[in-house]
Amino acid sequence: MTTPVRDLPLLLLGSGSDPASERGVDCPGELPPASDPALVERARAAKAALGDRVFVLGHHYQRDEVIQFADVTGDSFKLAQKAAARPEADYIMFCGVHFMAESADILTAAHQRVILPDLGAGCSMADMATFDQVEECWEVLEDAGVADDVVPVTYMNSSADIKGFVGRHGGVVCTSSNAKRALDWAYSKGKKVLFLPDQHLGRNTAVLEMGFSLDDCVVYSPHRRDGGLTPGRIRDARMILWRGHCSVHGRFTRESVDDVRARVPGVNVLVHPECRHEVVTAADQIGSTEYIIKAIEAAEPGSSWAVGTELNLVRRLANAHPDKNVMFLDKTVCYCSTMNRIDLPHLVLSLESLAAGRVENVIEVDPDTARHARAALDRMLALP
Ligand code: SF4
Repeated sequence: MTTPVRDLPLLLLGSGSDPASERGVDCPGELPPASDPALVERARAAKAALGDRVFVLGHHYQRDEVIQFADVTGDSFKLAQKAAARPEADYIMFCGVHFMAESADILTAAHQRVILPDLGAGCSMADMATFDQVEECWEVLEDAGVADDVVPVTYMNSSADIKGFVGRHGGVVCTSSNAKRALDWAYSKGKKVLFLPDQHLGRNTAVLEMGFSLDDCVVYSPHRRDGGLTPGRIRDARMILWRGHCSVHGRFTRESVDDVRARVPGVNVLVHPECRHEVVTAADQIGSTEYIIKAIEAAEPGSSWAVGTELNLVRRLANAHPDKNVMFLDKTVCYCSTMNRIDLPHLVLSLESLAAGRVENVIEVDPDTARHARAALDRMLALP
């Protein structure tokens, strides 16, 4: 099985701690201190010693200190594809979060081992939909008499268990770039969609790109009896949204947009579709991380851009385009804290362990889950 996350209680912020959810607390080995001035040289030497046997992937939201060692940067799906296209690399060092490493394991060849430098680098959104909760939801849909009409669609940002569930039930995976195409496909197969786990991407795509009304959408809450929905409401809905969100993009508010427009005349507001509906409807442009990067690259010199996505990426874009006024949409900092667990000391430890012949922090999806998840991913790859 994949790393078990199913039975974890959801703890409200500040209300306690759950050591079992901290999957990385006992990563093996001696973590070098962050103050070690030789860290950069150590990472360079270990990577050089490994040569083509290691391929380092860096997600766009990673710290600069890690990104400098990435052989390729990208979003989670692009990175998994790049890893699959490098079969000569026995080791895929995934500088990202847990679900991304799982997807890489599913898409790469059997001999390739996927390594996550800190096993505690999870994703709060992915953890908002556990396998047992989704199975329970499906039973609620069966009891309402609609399960046969429902096609499940899961965002890439979900665990392998959830992708496997979706694959088993004839559904598809989507990214923030192809969500509309995935939904078009799903509605050609059924009358309703269960969209996991990001309610905002599901709602924004359905309403802004497919002409649905907000009333066509209902939110299934895994922490309420029957999802907090009556059978009648479920039967009337076309889009059943899972109550999950990204803790980074969910922080942007309508006030953030109004505030930056008041402060910066002529500013273009560019946000990720994981942001809330009232934020994306107030923005000028909406798009995936790859879209955001291209939009800033193509922007006119002198133009101003307030970007609503993770801060590491926004800062890197601002530094790469000093001729444009690129700023963070919110006034407060907004890193992905789990993504930031991958730092230079963890990368050094993982690279040096590998160079010494110790293969640690391997992410492996069990074959049955991988087979069904792969089916859902393959349906995505075959989308028209
Ligand atoms: S930015 Fe949001 S969706 Fe992405 S890894 Fe962090 S918590 Fe998960």
